[in-house]
Amino acid sequence: MKKVHNFSAGPAILPAEVIKESAAGILDFNNLSLSILEISHRSKDFIDVMEEARALVKELMGFGNDYQVLFLGGGASTQFAMVPYNLLPQGGTAGYVNTGVWATKAIKEAKLIGNVNVVASSEDKKFSYIPSNYAIPAGLSYLHLTSNNTIYGTQMHSFPNSPVPAVCDMSSDIFSRRTDFSKFDLIYAGAQKNIGAAGATLVAVKESLLGKTGRKLLSMLDYQVHIKGESMFNTPPVFPIYVCLLTLKWLKKNGGLAWIEKINKAKADTMYDEIDRNSLFTGTCEKKDRSLMNACFLLTKPELEESFNKMWKEAGISGIKGHRDVGGYRASMYNALPLESVKALTDVMKEFEKKHA
Ligand SMILES: *Cc1c(COP(=O)(O)O)cnc(C)c1O
Repeated sequence: MKKVHNFSAGPAILPAEVIKESAAGILDFNNLSLSILEISHRSKDFIDVMEEARALVKELMGFGNDYQVLFLGGGASTQFAMVPYNLLPQGGTAGYVNTGVWATKAIKEAKLIGNVNVVASSEDKKFSYIPSNYAIPAGLSYLHLTSNNTIYGTQMHSFPNSPVPAVCDMSSDIFSRRTDFSKFDLIYAGAQKNIGAAGATLVAVKESLLGKTGRKLLSMLDYQVHIKGESMFNTPPVFPIYVCLLTLKWLKKNGGLAWIEKINKAKADTMYDEIDRNSLFTGTCEKKDRSLMNACFLLTKPELEESFNKMWKEAGISGIKGHRDVGGYRASMYNALPLESVKALTDVMKEFEKKHA
C-alpha cells in the first residue's frame, strides 16, 4: 500500500499492527479456522475478547468495581439520548456546557426527556473557546461536558469540580492523555476516533447512579439491562469490539496514557508552532483552549486554496479539509497518527510559504 498521512477526523487512523491483526482475525480467529465474523458472541473465544476489553478500559481509567464498562451499539449519538433517559428524573433538570455541534445535539436530545439548564456556552464566539468559571447549581441531576470539540478544535484541559454527578462525552480524545477519570460518573465515547472501529461505543458508568429516575425503561436503552447482560444483552458489535481490544492492547503495551500524552503533545506543538509561525496560516481558536487532537486553521490568503490543496495532496496527505461548518483545514492527530505525518504536513506548509509569501 502507498504511504498516506491520514489526518481523517473519524473514522480515523488506527495503528498499522492493529489493522493487520484485525484483518488476520477476519480470515482465521484464534486458529479456529473460522472468522471472528462467523462465530457466536457467546463462544468462549469471543467472551474472552469482551472481558479483556472491558477490563483494559477499567485499568486505563483506574476504576474499581463501582464502575461498569459496556461496549454498546448506536454510536455516541445514542448516548445523547440514553444519558438523560437513564439519569434525568421526571421534573429534574440536567446541566449542559455547550461547546459545539456535539454538545448542541446532546442538549437537543435531553430536552425531549426533561429540563435542561445550559450552564455555560461558547456559542457567542462560534465555539472558539472553552467557557470557564461558570456556576454549577447543586440541584442539577447531572452535569454534561464534551471534553474535545472535534469540529471547532477546542479541548478542555481541565475539568470543573462538579457538585453533581458529572457525565462526559470523550468521543474524540478518550485515552489521548492522562486523565482523572474519577471526576466523572459516566463517560462515553464512540470508538471510531481513538480506540477502534465505528460501530462500538464505550460506556463507563458508576453503577450506583442508575435506576433512580422512576421511569420504566426500554430494555435496549437501559444501562442496567446491559450491565446485567455483561455487555451482551443482545449481539454486540463483535468485530468493532475486537478492533478496540487490539488498540487498547497496543496502547498499554507501549506505555499507556503517559506515553501517548507525550507523543500527542509533541504532535500538537509541531502543528500549532507552524500555524503560528507561518504567515500564510492562522488558527481559529483561543490558544489556551486548542485541541491536541484536532487543529483547525485557515489560509490568510484564501485565493491560494487551490494551490495549497494541490501541494498537500501531492505529498500523500489525506483528510485535512475542514468541517463544512468551519471551512479551512482541520488536522486530526489522533493517537495512532505518527509525529512523522505531522512533520510531513508542516513541511508542506513551509514549502508553500516559500513559494507564495
Ligand atoms: C464524532 C463525535 C460524536 C458522534 O459520534 P457517533 O458515534 O457518530 O454518534 C459525538 N461526540 C463527539 C465529541 C464526537 O467527536
